[in-house]
Amino acid sequence: TKTSRPFRLAVIGSGPAGFYAAYRFMNKVQDAIVDMYEQLPVPFGLVRFGVAPDHPEVKNCQDKFEEVALSPRFNFIGNVAVGHDIPLSLLTPHYDAILFAYGASEDKALGIPGEQGNGIYSARAFVGWYNGLPEYAGLSPALTGGEEAIVIGQGNVALDVARILLSPVEDLQKTDITTYAADALRRSTIKKVSIVGRRGPFQAAFTVKEARELINLQSAQFLSDGLRKAIQWDALPSGGPKKLPRVQRRLFEVLMKGMDEGLKANTSKYWELRYFLSPERFDLDAEGELDSITFSQNMYSDGSDPLSVDAKVATSSEHPITLPSSVAFRSVGYKSASIPGLEDLGITFDSRMGIIPNDIHGRVLSPTAGPGSLTAGHVPGMYCAGWVKRGPTGVIASTMDDAFSSADVIASDWENRAPFLNHNIGNGQSTALGWDGVKDEAARRGLQRVSWQDWKKIDQVEKEKGKLLGKEREKFASVEDMLRVLNS
Ligand code: FAD
Repeated sequence: TKTSRPFRLAVIGSGPAGFYAAYRFMNKVQDAIVDMYEQLPVPFGLVRFGVAPDHPEVKNCQDKFEEVALSPRFNFIGNVAVGHDIPLSLLTPHYDAILFAYGASEDKALGIPGEQGNGIYSARAFVGWYNGLPEYAGLSPALTGGEEAIVIGQGNVALDVARILLSPVEDLQKTDITTYAADALRRSTIKKVSIVGRRGPFQAAFTVKEARELINLQSAQFLSDGLRKAIQWDALPSGGPKKLPRVQRRLFEVLMKGMDEGLKANTSKYWELRYFLSPERFDLDAEGELDSITFSQNMYSDGSDPLSVDAKVATSSEHPITLPSSVAFRSVGYKSASIPGLEDLGITFDSRMGIIPNDIHGRVLSPTAGPGSLTAGHVPGMYCAGWVKRGPTGVIASTMDDAFSSADVIASDWENRAPFLNHNIGNGQSTALGWDGVKDEAARRGLQRVSWQDWKKIDQVEKEKGKLLGKEREKFASVEDMLRVLNS
């Protein structure tokens, strides 16, 4: 054995990346102890605060995470934001390695005039609002100012936003959507949702499943003109759509089917896909409320294949078009941010890419570290996984694969005696106490650590409240309410 004490891993973040990495690492290194730090009193990251409430099956991964959490070699340290509530430097003496899996806490802005106006929200804020993310529980989006909403961006998150705006509230209120959001959606006057993309139909990032769901929505009619106009029929391969690559072909077929469907009975809501439009400015009225959005029109750049997902477009300033809208959601991507103290550990957050620089496997790279023996340029003991490692794309399954690869390199570095944080481990002298070494200072700072058992109490109360309302759970949407369960 390398040491007389267990390997101590701190995981920062309790989303899929953190949990899958913990699971894998605990399996590979049998005596490892994992402490998982989470800024909120409740676990699971975007599985709780991102995944749409009408997709409960996606949240089944929580069962696996629960299994991980019940291991005696696992400690959940909720309600502690690393880098904010406690400095990173408080952790380093007590762990052999730190795995950053803290996801994406910001979103990309468009950087165009009027963006700060009323009625313009990031998808992250809106999604957080309906899912009870404390940061956005007070958002109160402007859903009663008019009939037209615009979603800028054409990924799955954009389609989630549209579906929530268009779904019958009777259906939504049976999910774990917050009651305040269901109430606001019931009062909503939005009748039409336009989902707008910069490029063409074959460059949209949403997937077949999400497109089909929207098309099949009984409460809303798909207006297919925008799609019809955007398809460049003469660019399709000879032999027709059947020759398209599989993924594009399936999406094309689903959209065609939606296009051919007749009018649905009894729908008072509509949605459309618009293409080749880049937002130029948000037009605000005298009160600063959103009135319309002006777009410039795009076309494929010379030499771009309209059927390629990578096709590029060029923007023309001629013939801008203005679409009325009283509310807009920009869904152009989440973004990770640095956390205070990274620099002191020799890590330079890559703000342009929005990731912690890493070697693809998950070893954190240092711009200054010289060539070492085994891990040249690697900051000893520092690893990352999930959205903060790859950027904010990919589903839970791909995040799992990614987290497994990070856990595997920690295990193999350990096996190969690479340097770790407390690398006098070999002599069996070092003490790395994990949370036990951190907790007194955390208490001195007035922090209340939420354990897994504590979370289960909050979970229980949420489920009981849900039962009374005929739904899976009623989430607490403020940290105070969550903690009140434990302190009363
Ligand atoms: P996250 O899930 O964001 O977890 C990061 C965690 O770190 C959070 O709990 C956060 O609170 C915590 N944290 C942040 N900073 C700190 C700190 N300083 N200290 C301690 N903790 C911190 N995938 C699917 O497969 N199906 C879907 O239907 C689906 N729907 C989605 C809908 C939306 C709106 C979004 C945004 C994503 C969706 N995804 C879906 C993708 C999926 O959610 C991600 O792939 C996955 O959650 C990324 O995992 P992560 O662990 O890297 O980040």
